[in-house]
Amino acid sequence: MVNMTINEILLATGGTLLCGSKDTVLQHISIDSRNEKEHSLFVPLIGEKVDAHQFIDQAFLNGAAATLTSEHDAVDAEKPWIRVADTKDALQAIGCFYRERLSIPLVGITGSVGKTTTREMVACALSAGFNVFKTSGNHNSQVGVPITLSEITPDHEIGVIELGMSEPGELTVIATLSKIQMAVITNIGVTHIEQLGSRENIYKEKLTIQDGLTEGGILFLNGDDDLLRDTKAREGCKTIYYGTGDNADYRAENIHLEDGFPAFTATYKDQKVFVKLPVMGSHNVLNAMVSLAVASENGISLEAAARKLNEFTGFKNRQQIYDVDGMTIIDDTYNASPVSMKAGLEVLSSLANAKRRIAVLADMKELGEDAPKYHYEIGEYIVAHPIYELVTLGELAGQIARAVREQSNGILIKEFMEQDALIAYLKGELKEGDGVLFKGSNSMKLSQVVDQFHLV
Ligand code: ATP
Ligand code: MG
Repeated sequence: MVNMTINEILLATGGTLLCGSKDTVLQHISIDSRNEKEHSLFVPLIGEKVDAHQFIDQAFLNGAAATLTSEHDAVDAEKPWIRVADTKDALQAIGCFYRERLSIPLVGITGSVGKTTTREMVACALSAGFNVFKTSGNHNSQVGVPITLSEITPDHEIGVIELGMSEPGELTVIATLSKIQMAVITNIGVTHIEQLGSRENIYKEKLTIQDGLTEGGILFLNGDDDLLRDTKAREGCKTIYYGTGDNADYRAENIHLEDGFPAFTATYKDQKVFVKLPVMGSHNVLNAMVSLAVASENGISLEAAARKLNEFTGFKNRQQIYDVDGMTIIDDTYNASPVSMKAGLEVLSSLANAKRRIAVLADMKELGEDAPKYHYEIGEYIVAHPIYELVTLGELAGQIARAVREQSNGILIKEFMEQDALIAYLKGELKEGDGVLFKGSNSMKLSQVVDQFHLV
């Protein structure tokens, strides 16, 4: 955040200054009193378990320059305390105010799966022509997005912002405060169906990204998605489809694997360019296509954007592929949903040189009452693929094992409930020549299991 004064924070939030100077200058926002920096504004959020107002003193001890509060009416201190009605609303108001001060165009990325991967690829392709800002980590929530916006500086020429959604109404809030010129919807899956009830509801919610799309903006839609292919941008905005079919403006043709990596020809009007991706998984063809489309709509040639994609390295725990002691490990432990689990299994299946393909799968969370069914269907998918062994962690993942047990006569099955037992088993089982996919919801902590194998 570049130089925001307390006076501007008061204007943005409608808050009242309880003490300290209006001219104090701020350069960061912090919500964790342990990570204060010089010139930071501490925002004490009230969570389900913890009310961070109790950490205000610690934030000042650690160097904060000012704080918000919704719980104090009068304070006698040297540094500024600002009284606001609600600290989370105030944080969003500050993010919005700061964003309005910047003139750069922003691309907002939402969708059920692939937001982070797409964000990274779009940023990569745009870097062929611009100094690009992008969301870091997975800061795509009502708290993460305003903080993300505050990190943009006037040196940035374009920004790529990840917009997540875990409850109704969330996307409209974060898209509106981001004021985006371009919006991307990667797909409509069943992630967060627990909170939203049905895929149609998820679809309607995803379209609310347009509440933040400015007049004349562009909506990029995955033309391969059955719900998105017939969708049009709201009036005053342009729709661009990307995908593999005839309906796509930006189309991938002749998709094939070269040494296990996806390769294709990207076409747009009279432009054609050959692309070979340095990351595995055919789902990345779509992620790459939208990155080419966004770059091209911002004046970068398909060729220049495609050249940049050659440098794409992926993102931690999202289908990163390592060679360890002659084994190929696919670390896809960051999260899991039915769509992404199938994508992971497809990558595992495509490891042509693996002597044994082993899927280590943990529960997929937040799938609502049909969760057992979604897991069972993963088992059916496995049966149709060249998998040697299935190893599961967790109760729901047991449904994957059940389907495989009922429908296959060849695939080995091992089920675990405890991480330690799983690690002990894998240490004895895995050997040179194996291709191993690790995938499950973040809370299943499979990344800790995978770490045991990177480090050998
Ligand atoms: P979150 O909601 O947690 O932020 P996300 O939408 O950002 O998730 P990513 O972290 O990019 O999603 O990807 C999660 C996993 O989904 C990847 O590891 C990969 O297996 C898979 N994936 C990525 N892109 C796609 C896609 N276009 N279609 C299907 N699966 C995908
Ligand atoms: Mg993400």
